[in-house]
Amino acid sequence: MSFTLAIVGRPNVGKSTLFNRLVGKRLALVDDQPGVTRDLREGAARLGDLRFTVIDTAGLEEATDESLQGRMRKLTERAVEMADVCLFMIDARSGVLPADRTFAEILRRKSAKVILGANKAEGRAAEAGLIEAFELGLGEPIALSAEHGEGMAELLAVLTPLVDGMAAEQVEPEVDVLVEDGEVEDATPTASKPLQIAVVGRPNAGKSTLINQILGEDRLLTGPEAGITRDAISVAMDWDGTPVRIFDTAGMRKKAKVQDKLEKLSVSDGLRAVKFAEVVVVLLDVEIPFEQQDLRIADLAEREGRAVVIAVNKWDLEEERQAKLKELKEEFERLLPQLRGAPLVTVSAKTGRGLDRLREAIVKAHEVWNRRVTTSELNRWLAGMIEMHPPPAPAGRRIKLRYATQVKTRPPGFVVMCSAPDKLPESYSRYLVNGLREDFDMPGTPIRLTMRSQG
Ligand code: GDP
Ligand code: GDP
Repeated sequence: MSFTLAIVGRPNVGKSTLFNRLVGKRLALVDDQPGVTRDLREGAARLGDLRFTVIDTAGLEEATDESLQGRMRKLTERAVEMADVCLFMIDARSGVLPADRTFAEILRRKSAKVILGANKAEGRAAEAGLIEAFELGLGEPIALSAEHGEGMAELLAVLTPLVDGMAAEQVEPEVDVLVEDGEVEDATPTASKPLQIAVVGRPNAGKSTLINQILGEDRLLTGPEAGITRDAISVAMDWDGTPVRIFDTAGMRKKAKVQDKLEKLSVSDGLRAVKFAEVVVVLLDVEIPFEQQDLRIADLAEREGRAVVIAVNKWDLEEERQAKLKELKEEFERLLPQLRGAPLVTVSAKTGRGLDRLREAIVKAHEVWNRRVTTSELNRWLAGMIEMHPPPAPAGRRIKLRYATQVKTRPPGFVVMCSAPDKLPESYSRYLVNGLREDFDMPGTPIRLTMRSQG
């Protein structure tokens, strides 16, 4: 089985260097001058036991005029069309630049499968860039050093499952994949951007029923339409003035008359949907809640930094509701401690009961996920936390926490300057994360906290 991987990204992030490493010959020119390589370039690549075709999209000159965006877009789009998987590279040392966001947006809309690589990640200079990379909404970045060959095992680990199912996925849905041909948009989130939702869960949890019920109740803006991933379908809706877009699900496939084979989404489809969503609704079946599959997907959503809402479906079948709810909450806390405080909503997709609360929980979770705390509030808070429970003093020297700042949202990410980050126990970081969660009302959202030494 063979597949094509395109390496895309703005000039000078190290695409050609990685291309060379994968191809093993000096096929592409590498130079400090941006854009030395002229056009798309193909090579036969090898990584672990994978053999594939790699495309290098270097060839973009840095320019300040508008034509750069156009050329960048065209070249990237061409590569995306040719490729099964795209490796989107940023330079972790320079962090996320506006041009990176433009690429991210193109890829989010057009590419079947995207892997995010943060290159030049050797050494500490890359730390902040790695954290920032989460902002791109393309999942967890892989720390790479194309020059030093670091991160290749991780790249292989991420690539392998993506290309494993490739043969099966070559069955094309009957609906045309709509390739939007709009302008490159600024990828910074705005209020008018639809809130992106994925509904995931084991087969027969009731995903189709839920979507169809929602489709029946809400004002449909567009859809069902194909988009983003090769076989994902989405609908756009209006929830009392909040534009939302729901991805995937077998239900929409039925509506779009896609062939039977594709109707039941596999777990891996669900996993992929997680990558594109902002809020992930994990739909459980009340009769078999918190199955292994459910736990895995909820955990993935958390690790990918998505806001998570747990919805327990088929509530109409439950007779001992009070007792069951208590039991569910206990199980939730025990089995998914990493999602502490995430909303748990009971619904009946069949009757529509509880859907209002589900919509509210989704909108709220999204809000929390986007929350920004001011630096002054944060530092007042940090002082209080330290006073209440000072950090330990290994070998007689008290670890000092000097300053905290929020470096990102979606999900919220914080950096605390620390005199000895390596010595600070994990339990203290947890204490701070739980404090942030409670004191700034951020239930259920993943919170990233990094300790950094000064200087
Ligand atoms: P492209 O324009 O994206 O194809 O980037 P190149 O592959 O031409 O690399 C641009 C510059 O970054 C060159 O000077 C490379 O030597 C350097 N570079 C590439 N990968 C790394 C890396 O992992 N670490 C560091 N520090 N520099 C790198
Ligand atoms: P999917 O595989 O997750 O898309 O699940 P479906 O939507 O196809 O539903 C699987 C089965 O569960 C079907 O027989 C549905 O009628 C049933 N179902 C879905 N939601 C509910 C619900 O809220 N209550 C009850 N009693 N049955 C439901």
